[in-house]
Amino acid sequence: MPAVVVFTRDLRVHDHPALVAGAAADGVVPLFVFDDAILGRRFARPNRVRYLLDALGALDTALADRGGRLVLRRGDWTHEVLDVARAVGAGTIHLSDDVTPYARRRIDALTAAGPDLRVVAHPGTTVVPPGTCTPAGGGAFQVFTPYYRRWLEVPRRPVLAPPRSLTVPDVAGVALPALADLVAGDPSPDLAPGGEPVARAALNRWVKAHLAEYGDRHDDLPGDATSRVSAALRFGCVSPAEVEHKLRHRPGAEPFVRQLCWRDFYAQVLAARPDAAWGDYRARGDEWNTGDAHFAAWCEGRTGYPVVDAGMRQLRQEGFMHNRARMIVASFLTKDLYIDWRRGAQHFLDWLVDGEIANNNLNWQWTAGTGTDTNPHRIFNPTVQGQRFDPQGDYVRRYVPELDTVAGRAVHEPWKLPAEVRAGLDYPEPVVDHRAAIADYKDRLAALSARRAR
Ligand SMILES: Cc1cc2nc3c(=O)[nH]c(=O)nc-3n(C[C@H](O)[C@H](O)[C@H](O)COP(=O)(O)OP(=O)(O)OC[C@H]3O[C@@H](n4cnc5c(N)ncnc54)[C@H](O)[C@@H]3O)c2cc1C
Repeated sequence: MPAVVVFTRDLRVHDHPALVAGAAADGVVPLFVFDDAILGRRFARPNRVRYLLDALGALDTALADRGGRLVLRRGDWTHEVLDVARAVGAGTIHLSDDVTPYARRRIDALTAAGPDLRVVAHPGTTVVPPGTCTPAGGGAFQVFTPYYRRWLEVPRRPVLAPPRSLTVPDVAGVALPALADLVAGDPSPDLAPGGEPVARAALNRWVKAHLAEYGDRHDDLPGDATSRVSAALRFGCVSPAEVEHKLRHRPGAEPFVRQLCWRDFYAQVLAARPDAAWGDYRARGDEWNTGDAHFAAWCEGRTGYPVVDAGMRQLRQEGFMHNRARMIVASFLTKDLYIDWRRGAQHFLDWLVDGEIANNNLNWQWTAGTGTDTNPHRIFNPTVQGQRFDPQGDYVRRYVPELDTVAGRAVHEPWKLPAEVRAGLDYPEPVVDHRAAIADYKDRLAALSARRAR
């Protein structure tokens, strides 16, 4: 009896448990469905759809190299999957398990379809499946360090080779659409290309050149020395389990592997608390500023704080932002401007090619102080952060051309430049005074905490 393998955000042939299981059946349909419910939402944005199309094209080629092909459908996701399964008389649908509330609803809808079809959700989107590491009292870990300790000890499943050959029964599909058929707007001008072969090659190059220095250089803003593997992980063009397996015992790999564990950590948090996708993990009763002019300045990278503006411009230009810059701009929005983290998270999701709910929204909550770790004093001074992580100002000048005539670290304090120099720069004054804004923020937190104590 044939099987169907539904690809979702696992667009690869290496180390793909669902594909390997499906390939063992008597014929298999590798299927991807363009889900109208996702395409109709704001979540479908040009950067990620561009990457998705690249990845699907590469996946089709990889399947064709093994005698198969990728069948594409578009419409109601559950309906299309079931339609393909019934058309070929499949007994089993294999797919990779997932944790977002929407992905869970889709899997549940398939599972409810009937006793004649078995639905098997395989591991594949994390190193360790959510629910594998649990604290002694049950539930999910809320603190990273004990999770990490347990995560390091958990036995791993074997890393799987791609299937050697595939036989795909006849079934109708659609051609790979063009970007404009799926979403309005253009991708970022410097968006990196997507797909499994490109991602594997880029990661291999990075590992050879930079893995050993990751611990020292991951915060180096102008050095751009992180792996940039996040989009490939988000779309599953590389397998997180395979990456961890290959790198774990390499010299200097520990800080990098730890970051992969953060990704798993947030997946298990979201699996346990699906409401934390958009709701406060720990509500403080915030009454956020509406501040539309401030929000617009932040989105456009015109806050008058150079490192914040550089990060926000990088986001639009590349569909990517350095992790250090993400923390700085998120702190600026939620603390200096005291604007709701959800607005920032949504803007990030509009542009980030690696944008995904667990990593994005839970990192936002970490920065805002509403997340699993509620340290309210995690406040970033944007000037000090710029001076520390971009000491010569190269990161700022790369993304903020209005400041490219300002040499060295002076670029982080344009308000200190002589008036005649300033007058020649088309660059705004700071939208708020950092010290005053943070004093105000602390007063509000104190009032909230007093109100909660009453
Ligand atoms: C406000 C905010 C929003 C973020 N939104 C996203 C998002 O939508 N998608 C996303 O993948 N990451 C997100 N991150 C986490 C992190 O910034 C990116 O994963 C990282 O910058 C990607 O670059 P890289 O691949 O070069 O990372 P590297 O430093 O090379 O790290 C390797 C991998 O580890 C994982 N990782 C690293 N840092 C984190 C972290 N803090 N939390 C979870 N996983 C991590 C990522 O998968 C990353 O690709 C966000 C962080 C912040 C502070």
